[in-house]
Amino acid sequence: MAVPLLDINRQHRPIIEDLRSVFNKALETSRFIKGPDMEQLEKEFAEYCNTEKAVGCASGTDALILALMAVAVRPGDIVLTTPFTFFASAGAVVRAGGIPVFLDILPDSFNIDPDLLSGWLTDNCAVTSRGVVDKNTGTRIGAVMPVHLFGQMVDMDSIMSICKDWRIPVVEDACQAVGAKWSNKKAGSWGDAGCFSFFPSKNLGALGDGGMVTTSNPEIADRIISLREHGGRGYIHEEVGFNSRLDAIQAGFLRVKLTHLENWHKGRRKNARFYRSALREVKQVSTPVIKKEAWSIYNQYTLKVSQRDDLLNFLREHGVGCAVYYPVPLHLQKCFECLGYEEGDLPVSEAVSKEVISIPIFGELTEDELIEVVETIKAFYAKRE
Ligand SMILES: *Cc1c(COP(=O)(O)O)cnc(C)c1O
Repeated sequence: MAVPLLDINRQHRPIIEDLRSVFNKALETSRFIKGPDMEQLEKEFAEYCNTEKAVGCASGTDALILALMAVAVRPGDIVLTTPFTFFASAGAVVRAGGIPVFLDILPDSFNIDPDLLSGWLTDNCAVTSRGVVDKNTGTRIGAVMPVHLFGQMVDMDSIMSICKDWRIPVVEDACQAVGAKWSNKKAGSWGDAGCFSFFPSKNLGALGDGGMVTTSNPEIADRIISLREHGGRGYIHEEVGFNSRLDAIQAGFLRVKLTHLENWHKGRRKNARFYRSALREVKQVSTPVIKKEAWSIYNQYTLKVSQRDDLLNFLREHGVGCAVYYPVPLHLQKCFECLGYEEGDLPVSEAVSKEVISIPIFGELTEDELIEVVETIKAFYAKRE
């Protein structure tokens, strides 16, 4: 039996008439860009995340760029983030004019290690009239960008307390964490801004691209509203912005899907419980470690395994969908050679990138499919005892 890594059709089938009526309405009204559905979605999304505001834009990547600019990252500023994430986290830093500085992760949660952040700031930084600067180079620290990877939030109690002490803005990359919580507080409601992606494979996916920034700071919200439309209001421009709006039709689809999101989270969390107990006896496999303060939405279900590449091939040969998120940590990407990192600089991220494999977790998986995934993994290691 083949088991797909993700089958979005199964999620859409029960709501297909609602989605069709969104499409029909767009066709009849010819309202294609922003519009009342986007404004309603912004309200509903802010409410869902427990923030004052939410501002729609064209993608999660754009949400990150807009948020970094809006919290006042200036050209040449350092942004501290993780190397173990989707490329867009660091790509957005560069596109916003910043320089990524990568700090290593915790080996269990895969998220940035707060102790390394506070250590790095203490060792390298001083508070000056220009803000926090790197003592060695004079470069400003523009922001800290924690990434809530695979649906589990970063330890935001620690990150916020460090960043409040230093007065450094925080931009959460919550693209994989819509609805996730840390200490019972939602992703996107901790930092100065939170960034979300509606890429179709995310837990809340559009039928195309889309993104959102959450914030409870009205000035940041206003700046993003201006930046997403050429940095102006009407035809008066104070700065040069972008064309990064959310389509009305995507906003309509997302409004339909948002009402089902909590239910879909339940399905993923149930599957995670199944794997956790079914894989317990397989000693070559570690299931995800979820910290006690975290409520994960399992955007991915990522195992740490021995003989990763052989397992990957074996699962594929047996029709079990799987993928490696992420095979090359960002500090070792060709495009970041100029930052001067070498192999060995961030050992936990480097080690983890050779051990991880993500398996199907979407909520509509059947019990037979879950069993098939587990049995195929067991069969692989049984041959290799
Ligand atoms: C998906 C994702 C993004 C980018 O979102 P897009 O909507 O694809 O631009 C950024 N960061 C992380 C961690 C992501 O998973």
